[in-house]
Amino acid sequence: MTDNAAALGALKRYFGYDSFRPGQQGVVDALLAGRDVLAVMPTGAGKSVCYQIPAMLLPGLTIVVSPLISLMRDQVDGLNDAGIPAAYINTTQSLDEQDMAFAEAAAGRVRLLYVAPERLETDRFRAFAARTPVTLVAVDEAHCVSQWGQDFRSSYLGIGEFIASLPHRPAVGAFTATATERVRADIVHLLGLRDPAVTVTGFDRENLFFDVIKLETKYKAGWVARYVAEHPDESGIVYCATRKETEALAESLNRTVPVLRAASSGTMGAAGTPAGMPTGASQPADAAPIAVAYHGGMAPEDRGRAQRDFVTDAVPVVVATNAFGMGIDKSNVRYVIHHNMPESIEAYYQEAGRAGRDGEPSRCTLLWNESDIVTRRRLLDNDYENERLTPEERETVRMSRRRLLDGMIGYCRTADCLHTYVTRYFGETVERPAGTKCAGGCTNCLSTFETIDVSDVARAVSRCVHDVMLDYDDAGRPTPMPVRSGLGSGKIVAVLRGSRAQDVLSRGLDRCPSYGRLRETPEARVRDVLSQMVTDGFLTITEGRMPIVGFGPRAAETVAPDFHYEIKRIERRRGSGAGAT
Ligand code: ADP
Repeated sequence: MTDNAAALGALKRYFGYDSFRPGQQGVVDALLAGRDVLAVMPTGAGKSVCYQIPAMLLPGLTIVVSPLISLMRDQVDGLNDAGIPAAYINTTQSLDEQDMAFAEAAAGRVRLLYVAPERLETDRFRAFAARTPVTLVAVDEAHCVSQWGQDFRSSYLGIGEFIASLPHRPAVGAFTATATERVRADIVHLLGLRDPAVTVTGFDRENLFFDVIKLETKYKAGWVARYVAEHPDESGIVYCATRKETEALAESLNRTVPVLRAASSGTMGAAGTPAGMPTGASQPADAAPIAVAYHGGMAPEDRGRAQRDFVTDAVPVVVATNAFGMGIDKSNVRYVIHHNMPESIEAYYQEAGRAGRDGEPSRCTLLWNESDIVTRRRLLDNDYENERLTPEERETVRMSRRRLLDGMIGYCRTADCLHTYVTRYFGETVERPAGTKCAGGCTNCLSTFETIDVSDVARAVSRCVHDVMLDYDDAGRPTPMPVRSGLGSGKIVAVLRGSRAQDVLSRGLDRCPSYGRLRETPEARVRDVLSQMVTDGFLTITEGRMPIVGFGPRAAETVAPDFHYEIKRIERRRGSGAGAT
């Protein structure tokens, strides 16, 4: 039998699946051929099968390094149920139990042995590994080895040395869902992978419809309430940026959604309340709650209850911070709404990806606006203030976070297919015949865009950033000395629009040559252009308590005679796909 047929046979026999998912076969084949592998696949894509099948087909033992002791027992129980001899060794066991597992593995009666990375450093484990033929080492959550990853674990640094200490070098498979180039390079280097076959796959989730909606903050809660009201039989997660927001939004949904539903079903009483309800009340006292809040600041029992109510469908909607989701297994989540823009595509995709685990059409909506970007930038700077980092280290972390945030901002602004944007971000190329729409659907593929030439606006903005750094005499001539380090974006817009606001006039900004230059341009347009110029590198915003607009690396381009600048605006949205409107 060829390796290929043997692998398919094992997939069917042990796991009951007829075919490999994208990427799995390549990883299995490489490991069976004794080659190292770096596999980047999103959570839920099926990484485990990629090393479990080679473990069954190769002679010798497979060691699986996994960071979560709490999950080991479940994994091993699952394998044993499928008829795969697996065991784990960890600190929850007595020494006798550990001895037993060692003996079983040494006798060849265990094919997969799960351990935490710390275990590899113990003398006992070293001695065991030295006398047991180890054919494969699978490193789960391999990004934990990199300080550039989100979950660095120093114990992962010992894995490379452990592998090097084995009498016969096994094939090594590193598995992760993390995207950045830097982390991947660290994995290869720090685990000592030799010419690994690199696979990046499975990031496209074809049953998800992606939607990006730019919305002022004050309209967001209303949008969410309408969506929830219109989808009464669906379960959804709404992610908010802060604990306070989760509570406020859950409370507001419980108040407004019943009223909206009653209104749309025509059961409103004369006074605008649902029929049969006392005037003044917005919801019957015994009505089942629609939404429940969930965040890390809640008492554990309240959090547990919220989670249970959501998972068992007692409450259809959970309004949560990013603390919600890890280890929560609910397959029929029909929508995930982000009330604020997350810090990175990694974070967004992981949270949005909790929709549609059952493969049914589901919807992921991101509500954002320019002030989300300002907030995120501010958070990103303050985040590291209290950590014990040298100024250089802090700057490195800040730069890498900014780059991640830029990826997220790009997602909000792009007019390209959102499926393509994400898969490209993760380094995967999904072949699609030119001119065809994405499989799962997204707002951008369903919309036509209007391209607006804003070169003049951009030029005026850039000029104004320069002008406001100087002071002017009554005749509008600049005084010899620069007097300001600059102004914040709100002030720049106010100056360009010729605002009569007190703090504009009292500073003499009405004498500046840029004053009133964009009086005819709508304020929102000026703000959008300024903000996009920041994203595109023409301007920067120096962070701090008073963010100030300055020039970015591409600033000089705006004064070139052939400078051309555009923004895209959705002109028309055609329906909405995935059956999950
Ligand atoms: P990951 O480790 O990448 O998060 P898992 O290995 O836990 O993902 O797999 C997620 C789910 O997908 C599991 O229920 C697994 O049994 C299932 N699965 C894996 N491979 C296949 C396949 N080829 N066909 C169908 N289901 C699969």
